[in-house]
Parts: sequence; C-alpha cells; structure tokens
Amino acid sequence: MKTVGMIGGMSWESTQSYYKAINEGIKQQLGGLHSAKICLYSVDFDEIESRQRSGAWAETGEILGQAAQAVQAGGADFVLICTNTMHKVAPEIAQHISIPILHIADATGEQLKADGITKVGLLGTRFTMEQDFYKSRLIDQFGMEVLVPNERQREEIHRVIFDELCLGIINASSKQVYLDIIADLHAKGAQAIILGCTEIALLVQQADTDVKLYDTTAIHAAKAVEWALG
Ligand code: GLU
Repeated sequence: MKTVGMIGGMSWESTQSYYKAINEGIKQQLGGLHSAKICLYSVDFDEIESRQRSGAWAETGEILGQAAQAVQAGGADFVLICTNTMHKVAPEIAQHISIPILHIADATGEQLKADGITKVGLLGTRFTMEQDFYKSRLIDQFGMEVLVPNERQREEIHRVIFDELCLGIINASSKQVYLDIIADLHAKGAQAIILGCTEIALLVQQADTDVKLYDTTAIHAAKAVEWALG
C-alpha cells in the first residue's frame, strides 16, 4: 500500500472528513483491521486565510510547499492538498516535491465526465468560484460548462464557509440558503452541482436535494484510496 500525504488543516473540520473517508475506503477494500498509511501535515489555517485575504498567494505557496516537502520526507508517495481553494498554488507546491499531487479538480472532472455531466454548477469560496485556476481545469481538460452563482449568492456562500463551516458551526438557515442556490443553478441548466469546498458536505448532503451533488472531499478521498492501492 502506498502512503497518502495530506496537507490539511484548511480547515481541520474538513481534514477530519478526509481522514475518515480514506481510512474507510481502505477498510472497505482490504477488510479487517486494515487502515490507510497517511502522513498528515496540518497547517495553522489562520496563517493561510490571512494571506488569502491580503492576496499574498505566493507566501501561501511557500508555506504549503514546505508542508509538502515534509510529507514527502515522511514517506508519502503522493500528495493531497485537502482544500479546493489552495489548488490555486498547486503549481508552486509541486515545485517543492518530486512526488505527484492528486489534483482535486481532476478527480472531480473525471467523475463528472464518467457520469455524462457536461453542464455543472460550482459552489466554493469566492476564489474558487470567481478565479480561473479551478474552473479552467474543468473546462479545458473535461469539456465542462461551469455555472457559478450570482454576486450576492457568491458572497453568502463564501461568508458561510469562513464564518461558520470552518469554525464547526452548522446552521439550518445557511443550509436553506445553499439549497436555494443549488435549486437556482439547477433551474439555470446545471445537471449537477460541485460542492467545491471541502467543508460544504458538512452542511448539505445528497439526501437534502434531488439535484445530483459532487462532494469534492469524498471524491478526492476515494481517488486517494485508488492511488494508494494502485
Ligand atoms: N476548504 C475550503 C476549500 O475547499 C476553503 C478553505 C480554504 O480557503 O482553503 O476551498
């Protein structure tokens, strides 16, 4: 079995989901007392989030690059960046290591394509919804048409991620806001919705809506299990 390198803590609320899902996947495949070989480097999210806000992305690339180096030195065979947003600096992180990065948008794009989805709605942080690093990967490599919520909706989605979900706060009213936005994107033609922030599945689950949801945390973790056993 290969060792999974995880760069987590962004936020630790979703890193817990990753840790559980990867171990459950290995247990499901190998049975008994088998569990995943994981080398986790969990950052102080405040150091990352403050730099996102000030636009000091190069510094976040350096911090996460060093974290990636540490998991490689710890025996990891490949790396998961356990957040959609920080894939913005995936190329910079890659420069610090010789092992591959399992890109979250590739794992998600492959799944969407396999399911025949061509037009998809994207929820995530403002950075993920508005900038190009994530959407362009889905468009260029997987031929997706990507719909994002309107300005007011994006603001609310982003606020809930940082003021609630990353702090472990789950609000029924925020859940309804998300469900309304999902329904709106669906009405605008999205065949499915990417939960493109690793905390969103803590708030909204498939059972809450008939619109097909793609939880990037679950998809990324499942792909990591595949790589670990491949
Ligand atoms: N976990 C989130 C994501 O998947 C947001 C936290 C962050 O900014 O890294 O994008």
